[in-house]
Amino acid sequence: MRSLNEKCAVVGVFDENAAKKAYLALFAMQHRGQEASGISSSDGKNIHTIKDRGLVNDVFNDEKIAKLTGKMAIGHNRYSTAGDDSILDAQPVFARYDLGEMAIVHNGNLTNAQEVRKELIKNGSIFQSSMDTENLIHLIAKSNAGNLKDRILEALAIVKGAYSFIFLSRTKMFVARDPHGFRPLSLGKIGDGYIVASETCAFDLAGAKFIRDVEPGEMLIFEKNKEPESVRFAEPIPKQCIFEHIYFARPDSVVFGESVYNVRKELGRILAREMPVEADMVVPVPDSSVSHALGYSEESKIPFEFGIIRNHYVGRTFIEPMQEIRDLKVKMKLSPIKSLIQGKKLVIIDDSIVRGTTSKKIVSLLRDAGAKEIHMRIASPAVKYPCFYGIDTPEKNELISNRMDAEEIRKYIGADSLSFLSVDALCKGAKDKNNHCLACFNGSYF
Ligand code: AMP
Ligand code: SF4
Repeated sequence: MRSLNEKCAVVGVFDENAAKKAYLALFAMQHRGQEASGISSSDGKNIHTIKDRGLVNDVFNDEKIAKLTGKMAIGHNRYSTAGDDSILDAQPVFARYDLGEMAIVHNGNLTNAQEVRKELIKNGSIFQSSMDTENLIHLIAKSNAGNLKDRILEALAIVKGAYSFIFLSRTKMFVARDPHGFRPLSLGKIGDGYIVASETCAFDLAGAKFIRDVEPGEMLIFEKNKEPESVRFAEPIPKQCIFEHIYFARPDSVVFGESVYNVRKELGRILAREMPVEADMVVPVPDSSVSHALGYSEESKIPFEFGIIRNHYVGRTFIEPMQEIRDLKVKMKLSPIKSLIQGKKLVIIDDSIVRGTTSKKIVSLLRDAGAKEIHMRIASPAVKYPCFYGIDTPEKNELISNRMDAEEIRKYIGADSLSFLSVDALCKGAKDKNNHCLACFNGSYF
């Protein structure tokens, strides 16, 4: 079974016009998932769901939002994963069970999903999709506890791994973040009510104010005419995904208490101090590395230039299953400004190297455009291990840093020099207090 909840976005709104606000939040978090989008709302009597493949604006319009009535709504953007495009894998997942109706959204990846599913199937459960999230539905439906809160708590005691869950019943909204807090989840105030979302950039567009993060191991329960109830269901051992700061989150979000933009700039500054190089200009690989490159430029006093232009109408190259298509897509997506870089010594800043496809292609594009020297500086350590906590990384043997050291990679991509940020520097830049996951860099899984 594949895990299908990678790097998604979730939102829950407990206020007037809930679906409209959930839609705005999903729109702001489009970068976290482009394959499918969905919203479930509750009007107190029924749960209504609309979900489909495509971008938020392909799936929703005013007419559809108007059908999603009620003062509670949950929403989800699904990240594209190669090969699977089933609508059954879009969220929210809706179900009827003995206590009524429920809908669930999930960001993360359950590490014991296969064991739990096997056990459930042995006991008669029938599954419709390959999503981990369906496990939760079955665990809740089979429980003998008398109310949904206790059923959810029972289910959370069984599942392991990374999850930011939001559950909707006809009258309540439940939010839970796993004890390690791998994936981000923040709480905000909106109108007379509340909102929870994967990233705070969603609050800005939906008109909400950040209150605090949902704590690792915390469940929040929202109910009409009551203050939100907080339940600690497990001892928190924070291991928050440091890659959110490097690449996944939007720079205008505050993730795990730190501004993503500030962290990225700081990583760039540290990179300039740790890995200096003489050059004419600092050029980011757009868009994800712009903040890191600004930091590198400020610290090194080497001018910043947008030497590579990105075509925004091409989908992500990372997820193409075939290498030839990935190669062409990089070229379709990134294009160097020849007149600017001809005869120049360049420091190219990228946030990460995963397979090495992007870097190799960029170096070749820049050589063709007449660059004199190309020095790659990567604002994260070498990615050597796959992620089991909800991020769509390739198999171990596809990770170039798993097979090659920095010098071998330099030769492979054809750069004049190549350096990665050290793990210590990354921790310093992200203000780590031993509360981040670094597993894809150091192989320490939890
Ligand atoms: P690659 O060509 O495989 O080396 O991909 C590296 C590029 O993909 C980096 O420049 C990142 O901006 C981006 N990236 C890193 N991790 C991921 C991920 N898990 N999903 C999508 N893109 C990623
Ligand atoms: Fe994030 Fe890497 Fe940990 Fe996955 S392994 S949660 S990508 S830091």
